Amino acid sequence: MQSEIKNIVIVGGGTAGWLSAGIIAAEHLDLSAETHAPNITITVVESANVKTLGVGEGTWPSMRSTLRKIGITEAELLQKCDVSFKQASKFVNWHTEKNHQYYHPFTLPIGVKKVNIAEHWLNAQHSSQHDYSQFCQSVGYQDQICDLGLAPKMVATREYDAIANYGYHLDAQKFSQLLKEHCTAKLGVKHIVNDVETVNVNSNGYIKSLQTQQNRTIEGDLFIDCSGLHALLIGQHYEVPFIEQKSVLFNDRALAVQVPYTDEDEAIASYTLSTAQSNGWIWDIGLQTRRGIGYVYASEYTTEAQAKTTLQKYLIKNTSLKATDELNIKAFEFTPGYREHFWHKNCVAVGMSAGFIEPLEASALALIEQSAKVISEQLPRTFDSMLIIAKRFNQKMTKHWQQIIEFLKLHYVLSARKDSPYWLDNRKPESIPPALQEQLKLWQHQPPSQYDIAHTEPLFPAASYQYILYGMHFKTNANSAKKLTKQAEFALALMADNQQKRSQISSVLPRNRTLLNKINQYGMSNI
Ligand SMILES: Cc1cc2nc3c(=O)[nH]c(=O)nc-3n(C[C@H](O)[C@H](O)[C@H](O)COP(=O)(O)OP(=O)(O)OC[C@H]3O[C@@H](n4cnc5c(N)ncnc54)[C@H](O)[C@@H]3O)c2cc1C
Repeated sequence: MQSEIKNIVIVGGGTAGWLSAGIIAAEHLDLSAETHAPNITITVVESANVKTLGVGEGTWPSMRSTLRKIGITEAELLQKCDVSFKQASKFVNWHTEKNHQYYHPFTLPIGVKKVNIAEHWLNAQHSSQHDYSQFCQSVGYQDQICDLGLAPKMVATREYDAIANYGYHLDAQKFSQLLKEHCTAKLGVKHIVNDVETVNVNSNGYIKSLQTQQNRTIEGDLFIDCSGLHALLIGQHYEVPFIEQKSVLFNDRALAVQVPYTDEDEAIASYTLSTAQSNGWIWDIGLQTRRGIGYVYASEYTTEAQAKTTLQKYLIKNTSLKATDELNIKAFEFTPGYREHFWHKNCVAVGMSAGFIEPLEASALALIEQSAKVISEQLPRTFDSMLIIAKRFNQKMTKHWQQIIEFLKLHYVLSARKDSPYWLDNRKPESIPPALQEQLKLWQHQPPSQYDIAHTEPLFPAASYQYILYGMHFKTNANSAKKLTKQAEFALALMADNQQKRSQISSVLPRNRTLLNKINQYGMSNI
């Protein structure tokens, strides 16, 4: 087969579909060219009858560069999608049932490009005039910005630029809508609202066209399956096996609810609050007009009725609600896992059709961005080259999934909670991937470093492992031989300097809500 890849068809108009369309269109459909004759076409086909998931409120800092590239202004995003800034995840009661909390901030530890600061923090932890007892506080200041409810930037900071690294909390429905409007109006993406019913293939099994219930035939060369849990092409048609991960990550259910603020000046947290419960954990995300709160739990350990009671108790204790009977609590079911491969013949799965693991650390949208970016940058020109690109894409994505699973499991393995079989079972060796067991053995003797991560462009760098390990009181033996080196001197100077920054930063940054209000009113600096 030699013919060119010209027509891309994306099935699904959820976040995965529209983000993929935007990322690929921004690179390949140049509408500003005087003689507009793009080489390819991009068509999104979505059903009016099958709703999008409508959850997925936490994003990563990568979303800033993605949206900048797609051409959506940050002010527009903030004004249209109920957006707030996300600077960290804050974990409460993950180590013990009470009185424990720590942050996993988006800003990397100080000096990260020059020194592995964790090595020197371990030495300085108990022998310094400063309080270096907590890792996160010793190597950065974002925890303090979060504690004080401050924004990650000032009103004069240019759009998408940051003082402290940040992503967003957003309304997933409004976000898909904004992407759809932008992709169709500004990027030349075609949009068809039809229900895909049949997949037509050629003699090699490659997809030729899709037949819709409304009697339309949609032809294409490359088909991107963004049909969510329906997995129309990769699952239903090609039957690419699904690798289940429930024996490692037990959670397979979620209950989600939206709680409006009663006071329009109520403080907005700029972190995702994640509070561990006896059979899962509750997320709590502050947007501009409401909070999104949900309980992720394991159906093998608790029932939906019990989970609902747990969520209701949380709502009464932590919001201004007096009763919860009127709330519209939505239930979700999922099987944790991912596809054996993601690119099969001329079909590639992105988003929930490729896999889903519970939303701890909110990596789903980040993986969608990564997948679409690779597809766009490596967009095959011919069917022959597609085979090679597909093989590499599959290798890369498999590594991403394995890392996500190991990294999420780390949060459970380090817990000392004994209040339920759920937490005890989570620490049983048979539930821990061997690669993670090996890392944990190594990290008793040295802190995580970039060399522990086997692949390039990892979703979670070594710093993320450090934040979780030391936030959860993991013990690494300090290497006192490193105490007197030049690197140690440099690291200690950085840590002392960080103490100063911590005391200054709060006078510079505005309150989270104050900045959001200003941007809503006046827009944003883009010079
Ligand atoms: C409880 C929960 C919390 C989450 N939290 C986060 C988070 O904080 N951060 C994060 O990054 N991710 C999160 N996620 C994941 C995130 O929601 C998804 O990755 C994201 O919404 C992408 O979904 P999707 O576009 O793949 O699928 P969907 O939103 O389900 O979209 C599927 C699309 O396919 C279309 N479709 C289906 N069948 C047909 C058909 N026959 N013909 C035509 N079109 C069809 C539908 O109309 C729809 O447009 C969460 C997920 C859950 C379940």
